[in-house]
Amino acid sequence: MQDPKMLATYAFPTSITYGAGCVALVGHAARSAGLLRPLIVTDRGLAPLPPCLSLQRVLAEAGLEVATFSEVWGNPVASQVAAGAQAFAAHAADSIIAIGGGAALDVAKAMAVLVHHTGDILDYDAFAAEPLPIDREVPPIFALPTTAGTGSEVGRSAVISCDRSHAKKVIYSPKLLAQRVFLDPELTVGLPAAVTAATGMDALTHCVESYLAKAFHPMCDGIALEGLRLCGLYLPAAVKFAEGMASGADVTRDADHLHARGMMLNAAMMGAVAFQKDLGVIHSCAHALSTVSDLHHGLANAIMLPAGLRFNASVASERMAIMAQVVGAEDASADGFIRWVEALRATIGLPSTLAAVGVKHSALDRLVEVALADACHTFNPRPVSAADFRAIFVDAGLGDAEAPKPKAEPSAQESVQGSE
Ligand SMILES: [Zn+2]
Repeated sequence: MQDPKMLATYAFPTSITYGAGCVALVGHAARSAGLLRPLIVTDRGLAPLPPCLSLQRVLAEAGLEVATFSEVWGNPVASQVAAGAQAFAAHAADSIIAIGGGAALDVAKAMAVLVHHTGDILDYDAFAAEPLPIDREVPPIFALPTTAGTGSEVGRSAVISCDRSHAKKVIYSPKLLAQRVFLDPELTVGLPAAVTAATGMDALTHCVESYLAKAFHPMCDGIALEGLRLCGLYLPAAVKFAEGMASGADVTRDADHLHARGMMLNAAMMGAVAFQKDLGVIHSCAHALSTVSDLHHGLANAIMLPAGLRFNASVASERMAIMAQVVGAEDASADGFIRWVEALRATIGLPSTLAAVGVKHSALDRLVEVALADACHTFNPRPVSAADFRAIFVDAGLGDAEAPKPKAEPSAQESVQGSE
């Protein structure tokens, strides 16, 4: 039972428009919001493709003066943010319309800070000893995700890496919330099966970990459960359609395909709203796997999820049983939920062990060190020690030969809590 004298504050302010083809509404919405000179921010690879071209067209048709900044690729770094801020100034822009995956959306949010704040974006690192304050105006941001995973479109933070050290830094402010979000499943129908599966498991892990996190936030709990239910219902279908396309089927206009993609966009957005509450031990493991072994974030979550759940079962069996009921698992218990997760992961074609993706036992010391320094696990329902992390990584099936070389030195501030 909660402390009867407890006090909590929560809010859900983002306006979200959902529907196939809703990109067509962005021009009118931008005009209604008083935008005149938006800067589109997108990934380099997406810039010449139909989603971005459609957006440019509808904005121009609405009479807006549009420019596009597309120098975003890979893991977003500070120099991309600085270049974006220069493009904003060069266009004399008054707003940002971000379209793309988590990287483009994060760069858009971070460069919005630099419009009226001086210095380098990493001076605003929320986990630095003395970060500069984000206390001035931030221009309006519209966001259109083209993947269903991070939910960055409804997040209040951006993860930006240092160009030199690759250390991930978190830029955080409620001012980074997008004013309008457009979830258009037509923007995600072309995603390959492996990306659909891994990003979808990231969304699912956000729902699971936020529901289990120890903070009091019943609104987030409700959103997390429905997001989880949608992942269970629609992730296998979205992956199946993607596999069909890979073998030549033309299903980009298939109504069931658009519906599955759309429900996964909603689930990803809901997962990110839910983790306003917090994340947990699984994300600390995933962040370590990305830093030490260069593993895809969603894939790392998918592999670590059952091991993290087994670790939490002794303190969270009731909540895990509720999740088993929500997804319709055959056995509505904590164990039943873990088996359901493992079955889903197999259905969508993702590997079940760290060994299968080349992470070896020799990486264990570094993985434990980085995971322990990550902030996410401090919100986990069960406290996590170094020995616990060691056991959890071993439970996830490490390989026994040499480990891949570490990609970069992790920073003491290494954490992407509040994002991804
Ligand atoms: Zn994540």
